[in-house]
Amino acid sequence: MSIKNTLTIWFGKFMVKALHLLGRDAGNAPGLILWEMNKDCLKAFKVDCPIIAVTGTNGKTSVTNYLNHIFESTGKKIITNKQGNNLDTGITSLLLQNCDMKGRVKADYLVLEIDESHVPVIFSKMKLETLVLLNFFRDQLDRNGEVETLILKVKKFLETFEGNVVLNADDPNVSRLGLANPKNKNIFYFSVEKYAGATEKPYEVGEGKFCPRCGEELKYDYYQYSHVGKFRCPKCGFGDVKPYVTAKNVKLDVPSIEFEGEEYKISHNSIYYVYNLSAVYAAASLYNFDKKVLHETFEKFEVNNGRLEKFNVDGSSLLVNLAKNPVGANMTLRVMNEHKGEKELLFVLNDNLADGHDVSWIWDINFSVFNDVTRVVTSGTRAYDIAIRIKCSGYDPDKIVVKPELDDAMAEFFKNKGDKYAIANYTAIQPTRAAIKRYKAKVKEGRENG
Ligand SMILES: [Zn+2]
Repeated sequence: MSIKNTLTIWFGKFMVKALHLLGRDAGNAPGLILWEMNKDCLKAFKVDCPIIAVTGTNGKTSVTNYLNHIFESTGKKIITNKQGNNLDTGITSLLLQNCDMKGRVKADYLVLEIDESHVPVIFSKMKLETLVLLNFFRDQLDRNGEVETLILKVKKFLETFEGNVVLNADDPNVSRLGLANPKNKNIFYFSVEKYAGATEKPYEVGEGKFCPRCGEELKYDYYQYSHVGKFRCPKCGFGDVKPYVTAKNVKLDVPSIEFEGEEYKISHNSIYYVYNLSAVYAAASLYNFDKKVLHETFEKFEVNNGRLEKFNVDGSSLLVNLAKNPVGANMTLRVMNEHKGEKELLFVLNDNLADGHDVSWIWDINFSVFNDVTRVVTSGTRAYDIAIRIKCSGYDPDKIVVKPELDDAMAEFFKNKGDKYAIANYTAIQPTRAAIKRYKAKVKEGRENG
């Protein structure tokens, strides 16, 4: 190891140690400082085990957690960024916490969630074995720029990549990347058969309606959600791929799906979640996992952490989901609307740096369908913006309550018992979860005292 690399690792380890001694979580900081000092700092680590990375606009954290659970279930030692520190600096911090003084990282596998734009940077310095690509939607435009720029970045990386690439066949933005390197024989597509909620016309605003190969307008047989569905280019045939894995017989009322003729019970009734599981199944299949582990995982494992997280609060059932873009929000609304009976919605919207200060994306959320939604509570730094957005969709303004402070919002939201749904954007999700837990504790305390 060169002197520069040795010093990089020593200094990094020292920072992690110092932060721990101060009782602080290492977080992103050591990685950030290391990158300031040495742009090649990732090269100082010695990673000999296979690396599996998950990227895409929505679902990275969930899919990474699922894969981690599956790999760990078989007794393997995994290093993963479960909490989603998915930039180059976050990965550097993660490795610092898991390496010895020589920079050696000891594990059976690294299972990493990686931000789309950071895939090329990170894996030009570390050897990647498998890349899982979920979808590309408009997201946090302030930071990422247009989605096309992002796709081209990943495409450039894939042009010389020869490892496994697991791709969503039903998202043209992703599927096109299977053509990036004609020499790579390790391209594996996953797909989901038409489900009962699929539509002939797009339900939401989407991208990717033109053939990336010849520019012709793509013809869709159906849309599963957003621009994800069964498409084909009438001119050049783009879209004709043979999936490695197809989820069949999607029954969201059970809920269950079928892979290779076997039925799997699953724990959430959303098509968006079925796509995540199909990606997990495809990636796990490359590593020959016992089907028993997959059954157990699909039926019981919960990511929580604000990803389709279920709560029981004072006699009400609540489903909380993170949404940092219109597609994510639409997905939760769709799950809510498909649920029969009356329900209430909480929407928490912040505009902090990590969210992007521009909240105009809320105008691309489809609020036109609101089945039996009896009340909406809005909260967060932009509580009024989201309330106006919902009002403009034609929803009765008398049924909207604005409570910018989260604790006030919870007291209001749980005033009535029943079925409830909550959507929170990026920096709002953890405070929202914390406020729910505080409210639960308060109710419990009230009961014990009286
Ligand atoms: Zn074409």
